[in-house]
Amino acid sequence: MPTELLFRQDAYLKETPATVEAVNERGGIVLDRTIFYATGGGQPGDAGHLRRADGNLIAIGTTIYDPEDKSRVLHVPLEGQPAPAPGEAVTAILDWERRLKRMRIHTALHLLSVVLPYPVTGGSIGDGDGRLDFDIPEGGLDKAELAEKLNALVARNADVTERWITDAELDANPGLVKTMSVKPPRGSGRVRLVAIGDIDLQPCGGTHVRNTAEIGLVAVTDIEKKGKQNRRVRIALA
Ligand SMILES: [Zn+2]
Repeated sequence: MPTELLFRQDAYLKETPATVEAVNERGGIVLDRTIFYATGGGQPGDAGHLRRADGNLIAIGTTIYDPEDKSRVLHVPLEGQPAPAPGEAVTAILDWERRLKRMRIHTALHLLSVVLPYPVTGGSIGDGDGRLDFDIPEGGLDKAELAEKLNALVARNADVTERWITDAELDANPGLVKTMSVKPPRGSGRVRLVAIGDIDLQPCGGTHVRNTAEIGLVAVTDIEKKGKQNRRVRIALA
């Protein structure tokens, strides 16, 4: 059975009851449903705990998609943790503080891609900081100027909304693709679109805050030259 990805419907769920479906040979725990974001799109997998019926905790270090079956999510325990039994009822509890920082940075990186409307060649999200790599023909980027533009977008208090769209709807609305800052992937039948007010629209499977106001003040901490046409821009929660 594919794992039900509750974080896709509600990124603000901090805990959920779940049932253990399997424990693989390396200790990875499969639940029927999860609020733990699995590593992908430059965002690290979530950490947290599984609370057992007797109140004992199993510490989860990270979360990944099962390499054997990408529709399943593996909760990877820290070393030395007890293994639950298939069929066991647990409560999955997120390390919420860390996740919220990642959601704030992730949403801020969407805004950074608006401030710098160039092709993005890479990116990464940390706990309170993150970066995007841009294919930019020339340099001349200024940290203070970028930060000012970024914080002006944050200050617009724009709602972040998500909706699913089918490939058929995309084909019927070519203008929609034109307004997107990133081209949607094809072939899976449907695409999840993330809109930030009328500021940004792009396909994304990640976790975001509900309103840009939650990002707070952002600093541009570094602009690195990575090759002739590449600039790495680092940001951090101020
Ligand atoms: Zn996103």
